[in-house]
Amino acid sequence: MIVTFRSLAYLVASLLFILSLRGLSTQESARRGNRFGLIGMVVAVVVTALALLIPGEGGATVAPDVTVVGVLAGALGIGCLIGALLASRVAMTSMPELVAVLHSFVGAAAVLVGIATYLQAGGFDPADRAAHLGEIYVGVLVGAVTFSGSIIAFGKLRGKIGSKPLLLPGRHVLNMVILALCVAGAVIFHRADVAWPVDGAGFFDAGMPALLIMTFLALLLGIHLVMAIGGGDMPVVVSLLNSYSGWAAAAAGFMLSNDLLIITGALVGSSGAILSTIMCRAMTRSIWSVVLGGFGSEPAKPPAGGGGPAGKVNEATVDQVAELLLAARSVIIVPGYGMAVAQAQHPVKEISSLLTEKGIKCRYAIHPVAGRLPGHMNVLLAEADVSYDIVKEMDEINEDFASTDVVMVIGANDIVNPSAEEDPSSPIYGMPVLQVWKAARVVMLKRSMAAGYAGVDNPLVYNDNTLMLFGDAKQSVTKLLTALRGGG
Ligand code: NDP
Repeated sequence: MIVTFRSLAYLVASLLFILSLRGLSTQESARRGNRFGLIGMVVAVVVTALALLIPGEGGATVAPDVTVVGVLAGALGIGCLIGALLASRVAMTSMPELVAVLHSFVGAAAVLVGIATYLQAGGFDPADRAAHLGEIYVGVLVGAVTFSGSIIAFGKLRGKIGSKPLLLPGRHVLNMVILALCVAGAVIFHRADVAWPVDGAGFFDAGMPALLIMTFLALLLGIHLVMAIGGGDMPVVVSLLNSYSGWAAAAAGFMLSNDLLIITGALVGSSGAILSTIMCRAMTRSIWSVVLGGFGSEPAKPPAGGGGPAGKVNEATVDQVAELLLAARSVIIVPGYGMAVAQAQHPVKEISSLLTEKGIKCRYAIHPVAGRLPGHMNVLLAEADVSYDIVKEMDEINEDFASTDVVMVIGANDIVNPSAEEDPSSPIYGMPVLQVWKAARVVMLKRSMAAGYAGVDNPLVYNDNTLMLFGDAKQSVTKLLTALRGGG
């Protein structure tokens, strides 16, 4: 009866997770999707906790004694508290770092579950023993790569580790050797396990040394794979690690014989893989070049002219930009990471509404990797209540720049860098970008001449038809709004 109820509840939770993913596929239904996911997770946690506390058929599950209740309540309470505190404090711009840390937790959990399950290996049915050992080995391997890779991704996103790729000589051979050693370790692990558990066996007996050495090698592999990836490819790495964390969770589900964990892990693993493929296509990168860590990527070259200004810059005042906008028939706004940092989305929305009221065609152009996480700009614009109809994806709007009077680039840099199309020596060459330079006029709002995330000089700032409006995006946009309203 209890088992049937648990299976039913797991089925409901799985359906809710599927509905959640479906909801997250469009902006209009994203909030609903989030709610489905939330309810599904509450069902999953409550039912799993109850299943642990209530004895199942034949009293097989843990009895509800005080220690179990205490440990479970303590772990859940502390976990919820830390999670809620961190998530409520994290700025939207730091979200990818939080996601990377959360992936590392999943990886660490898979490693710990694997080692703990192996310590109980004596309880396996001899017929299923080989399969269980395989689950443990693969689960620990994927978990360890996910854990160390995610920690490095966190360091790179936070700026603690440089965004330039670490390209060691013979790095692919090194990866292959590590993988080959892990495969050899699997054979040793399986053979050594025949003797497990033996009377008086210690922690480091039987297959445990092979398992621990493989864990160490997999940790090294995770570090090396992500260290070899350059700043421009980091968005794909985050979604790839998301996929790995899903497979690690699925492996933990197999070890714990938990169907819901298997289903959820598979959903996360496959959706992360699909997202990675879509992002790779958007950046014309091969998925294998990212999986294999920096394959085919060249070390970033310093900006032309040794990092100094490569030409004359046309600086504009707020009043000049306001005049330009009011004289335009069509305007496209390109938001980027700087708009998120400055939290300028609300006054930006006021500007687009005002221009629309004045009969000027005003739209937004969104690059797939604008900001620091997939969908970053969509979330900010939705928060500011910008109508979805005027928010256009890169493919929908790229051809329209040539017939646009004014493009206002707010805190964006890499995603509008023409050298991605024109300079084969550029580290971001080949990445599709918004072709803003084709418009009659471009106004760039940023604080200085600093480069963007990829650390690459942007020739757009020196173009004759580009005007620079220097300053914090929120302050500039607020002043611009006042000027447009006639108060400037
Ligand atoms: P960039 O990082 O290329 O450029 C942002 C620009 O914003 C900077 O040049 C900076 O110039 C400016 N800026 C920063 N703060 C402010 C502020 N307060 N006011 C005004 N301007 C400001 O951002 P893009 O959105 O153009 O491109 C995203 C980059 O991030 C890509 O390289 C992408 O690969 C990478 N990335 C994307 C992820 C994703 O999933 N979307 C994840 C990880 C990386 P200044 O200092 O002069 O003001």
